[in-house]
Amino acid sequence: MMSLIKHEIKIDESFYKVEEIRQLTRETFSLILPKARFAFKAGQHISLGIYGDYQSREYSIYSGIKDDHLEVLVKEVNNGYFTPKLRKLKVGDLVEIHGPFGNFGMEPKATETGKFVFIASGTGIAPFRSIARTYPEIDYALIHGVRYTTEAYDRNEYPGDRYILCSSRDTKGTYHGRLTGYLKNCTFAAETQFYLCGNSDMIFDALEILKEMGFERDQIHCEVYF
Ligand SMILES: Cc1cc2nc3c(=O)[nH]c(=O)nc-3n(C[C@H](O)[C@H](O)[C@H](O)COP(=O)(O)OP(=O)(O)OC[C@H]3O[C@@H](n4cnc5c(N)ncnc54)[C@H](O)[C@@H]3O)c2cc1C
Repeated sequence: MMSLIKHEIKIDESFYKVEEIRQLTRETFSLILPKARFAFKAGQHISLGIYGDYQSREYSIYSGIKDDHLEVLVKEVNNGYFTPKLRKLKVGDLVEIHGPFGNFGMEPKATETGKFVFIASGTGIAPFRSIARTYPEIDYALIHGVRYTTEAYDRNEYPGDRYILCSSRDTKGTYHGRLTGYLKNCTFAAETQFYLCGNSDMIFDALEILKEMGFERDQIHCEVYF
């Protein structure tokens, strides 16, 4: 008689039930999960899998360390493998999380006196929301580059004078054009620490601009998404 071998997935503490899905734009949503069962540093990322699927992807943690829920921000990529599946998740579905990973972010002590400039393209804003929620007193400016101002995810959470929205395809932001165009005309204090997150083209261009302004490479921290 043929034996049927069934591979059962052990549901352990790395599985989280989706509690809520916030639709932020047509393509972008956040997954709200139970509070993290691991300690993390604001700015770090996790590896996210879907129950029953063999692949996983990395996502920055979008929530702060003291928040009651773990949250990630996801943009559905046209013809992508994983994000269309994430998009189909429903409340109650299981995802698998490993981590946290990475060193993006700063030591808590540095947030008390340091000056920070956060530069993000698109969903690259995710680690900065985690940092801003974790350290509300931190001295920062957040320069966010998007195509349309509708992509200014949760912008009301950032004080108006700290959040600079650069939109390349509409004129409703602080600046009309790419964030690198805005950056070129900025002046920053010599001791500023820069954190760059998002796509590699933006990061490469912003790095060049900051180096031309005279900032040292060790003042510039990068997290490349793709
Ligand atoms: C450290 C780290 C943190 C990340 N954090 C986030 C996050 O917080 N939110 C988030 O949405 N993504 C994040 N990403 C990207 C994420 O891991 C996936 O690459 C992304 O969700 C696409 O997965 P996919 O399987 O749908 O696309 P794939 O099938 O893997 O890739 C399809 C193509 O889409 C490109 N691509 C990947 N991401 C994007 C994008 N956002 N916009 C346009 N093209 C893209 C890839 O370069 C590839 O050519 C992060 C990546 C890294 C390395």
